[in-house]
Amino acid sequence: MSEPVAAYLHIPFCDRLCPYCDFAVVTGRGSDTDRYIDAVVSEILADRPAAPLRTVFIGGGTPSSIPASSIERLLGALSRQHGLADPEVTLESNPEHLAQDLVTSLASVGVNRLSMGAQSFDPVVLRALGRRHRPEDIDVGVAAARAAGMASVSLDLIFGHPAETDASWEATLERAIGLDVDHVSTYALTVERGTALSRSIAEGAPAPDDDVQADRYEVAVDRLGRAGFEHYEVSNHGRPGHRCDYNTEVWAGRPYLAYGLGAHGFRDGTRFRNVRAFDAYVTRVESGGSPRQGVDPIDPWEQEVDRFMIGLRIRDGVELGEAGPAFLDTDSGRRLVLRGILEVDGAMARVVDPLLTDAVAREVVGLSPPR
Ligand code: SF4
Repeated sequence: MSEPVAAYLHIPFCDRLCPYCDFAVVTGRGSDTDRYIDAVVSEILADRPAAPLRTVFIGGGTPSSIPASSIERLLGALSRQHGLADPEVTLESNPEHLAQDLVTSLASVGVNRLSMGAQSFDPVVLRALGRRHRPEDIDVGVAAARAAGMASVSLDLIFGHPAETDASWEATLERAIGLDVDHVSTYALTVERGTALSRSIAEGAPAPDDDVQADRYEVAVDRLGRAGFEHYEVSNHGRPGHRCDYNTEVWAGRPYLAYGLGAHGFRDGTRFRNVRAFDAYVTRVESGGSPRQGVDPIDPWEQEVDRFMIGLRIRDGVELGEAGPAFLDTDSGRRLVLRGILEVDGAMARVVDPLLTDAVAREVVGLSPPR
C-alpha cells in the first residue's frame, strides 16, 4: 500500500448551526480556537511521517471563521511532519467572512484553492437554509479570491429545498456561471436524522421532493456542461485543469490522512475516525492519548470492492481491476449491463445515468471474491 499524499484537516467552528447540518461542528466555542489548533498540531506531530503531501483539504465547520495565522500553524505542522510537495491547499469558507484582507492572508500562508459555501443566489432560499450571507457576499468573495491570486475558486450549491423554484435554481446556476468560477459542486438537500430540518418536516413542513431534485440535477448538468465545465464526478463540475486533487485521491481509493474532530482517514489498509465530541477530542490529545474512536482494518478484497464502488462516481468511469469482473459475473451485474445502466468499455466501467450511481453502488456492497 502506497503512502498517503493527501490530508484532511477539520475545523469544527461555526457561527451558528444550519438547520440541515449534521457535520461535526461546534457553535459558541470561538474562544477555544487556539486550544483546538494546539491539539490538531499535536495530533499531526504525533503521527508517523508519510510522503510529502500533494493535496490538503481544510474543511469544516467553517475554516474561514478562524485567523489565517491558525491555518499557517496547521500547514507548518504538516510540512514538518510529512513535507509539502507544492500542494493544492483547499479551504472551505462562508461568503460572509471573505473580506479582502482575510483572503489575502489565507493566500499568503499557502491556501491556493478557495471553496465557498455559496448554496444559492436566491435570498429566499438562503434564508430557508438558515444561511447568514447575502447573494452579493458571494460576488465579493469571488472577487477577493481572484485579487488574492487563488489558483482555483469553487462554489458549493444546494438544490431542491422546497422554498426553491425552477426559476430560482436556474438563476442561481446563471449567477455562478457568470462569476466565471473554476469549479462548481452541486448537492441535493438531504434530510439527516436529528437535524432541525428533519424535526420541522416531522411537524408538517414540506419535505424535498425526489423528482424535483432529479430534474434540478439534470438542469445543472446541462447548464454547467454547456458553459464549459467537465462533469467529472456525480456532484462535481470543473473547468479543464481544475478538478479537485484531494477528492480525486479519495475517490481513487488511495490512502489519505485526517486530523481533527470527527475526521475520517484511510492508511495502511485501515479506516479510522476521530471522536466527534469537542471536549473529548481536545482532552484526549492534550493528555497524550489518541483521538481515534474507531479503527477498522479492511482486508485487501474489501479495499478493492470499496475502490470499485467509490469509483463508480467518476464520470470517466472506474478501472475494472479485480472487483469489476467479479461484479459483472453476478446476476445484478449482468442485468445492469443488459439494461444499459452500466457500460463496460475495455478495462473501464461507467454508470451511464449519474442519478443511478447510488443504486448501482448498493448492488456492489458485500460483493464476494471470485472463487
Ligand atoms: S456553516 Fe456548514 S458546517 Fe457550519 S453549520 Fe452550516 S452547513 Fe454545517
